[in-house]
Amino acid sequence: MKKHNFSAGPSILPKEVMLKASEAVMDLDGIGLSLIEISHRSKEFVAIMEKARSLALELMGLEGKGYQAIFLQGGASMQFMMTAFNLLEKKAGYVNTGTWSQKAIKEARLFGEVVEVASSQEDNFDHIPKRYKVPGDLDYLHLTSNNTIYGTQMKEFPETDVPLVCDMSSDIFSRQLDFSKFDLIYAGAQKNMGPAGTTLVVVKEDILGKVSRKIPSMLDYGVHIKQDSMFNTPPVFAIYVSMLTMQWLKDLGGIPAIEEINERKANLIYSEIELNPVFAGFAAKEDRSLMNATFNITDDGLKDMFDEMCKEAGVSGIKGHRSVGGYRASMYNALPIESVGVLVDIMSELEKKG
Ligand code: PMP
Repeated sequence: MKKHNFSAGPSILPKEVMLKASEAVMDLDGIGLSLIEISHRSKEFVAIMEKARSLALELMGLEGKGYQAIFLQGGASMQFMMTAFNLLEKKAGYVNTGTWSQKAIKEARLFGEVVEVASSQEDNFDHIPKRYKVPGDLDYLHLTSNNTIYGTQMKEFPETDVPLVCDMSSDIFSRQLDFSKFDLIYAGAQKNMGPAGTTLVVVKEDILGKVSRKIPSMLDYGVHIKQDSMFNTPPVFAIYVSMLTMQWLKDLGGIPAIEEINERKANLIYSEIELNPVFAGFAAKEDRSLMNATFNITDDGLKDMFDEMCKEAGVSGIKGHRSVGGYRASMYNALPIESVGVLVDIMSELEKKG
């Protein structure tokens, strides 16, 4: 039986995508060769790469607006360093909304002055800081749009002339945004886009080439763009599955269609958390993430029963991150609303038993 997969990442992918990907591992579109045994320079893979790059821009409405999409390796964690290496000349600003922001800050400090423009650390990152001032002399401001661990999500983004860099690893392609407000967006594939192994970087070309330091080729966005994201052998499987997932999303109606479904899923679980006294949400209501719902059980005595009920119903991957505790239900694009329904039924059943 297929379980209800609430894993925070790597996480659920659409079934049709996994079927097509497994077929391609044996025989790519009937060419008599496997996807993973052909040259990345073959016309078949070049077409896959080009499709993946154009789908990413198309889904975000960024075609023809001076942006390039490239697929890199090293995870989102590599981008913590690479963004600073390519963009930080003197001073950068960071909004500290959790573990991943902190890791980005640590790397950026290797390259220049870093100011923490705002932080919610004092409250264990249970909300998104608001109404902060963005200094005008920053090379860029770095944001984390969705905080996977804490279940908080930025609903509004600062209005500023400073270039915006955003880690969208855990909510890319999940909701409508004016993506043209951002100058650089990065996201590890392994939540809403594909398997682990590649990171999507969408960058506005005119922000590049402004730092004075020398940049090694593999860390230079400009080099990857010039080589059509083929400077070296790319992670072909991860890019192929990402392409299929983006095509799946496009066929579904794109980001507007999935946003509506994601809102329905989130409403379902958050109404249960609010109404059911056995559960307490972690994140501040106005900042709650559509992707990761974090919550706890108010009565410790009911935990074992809840865990057992989840196990029996095939609910998988809801254990909270160690820095928050409790539970975290990740509801990425590919998670069917029925799975959220199963979890919510267990929650209301627990209330009756409690
Ligand atoms: N940023 C965010 C928001 C994340 O959720 C994660 C991983 N969970 C990362 C960065 C790090 O990603 P990676 O493991 O791909 O380096």
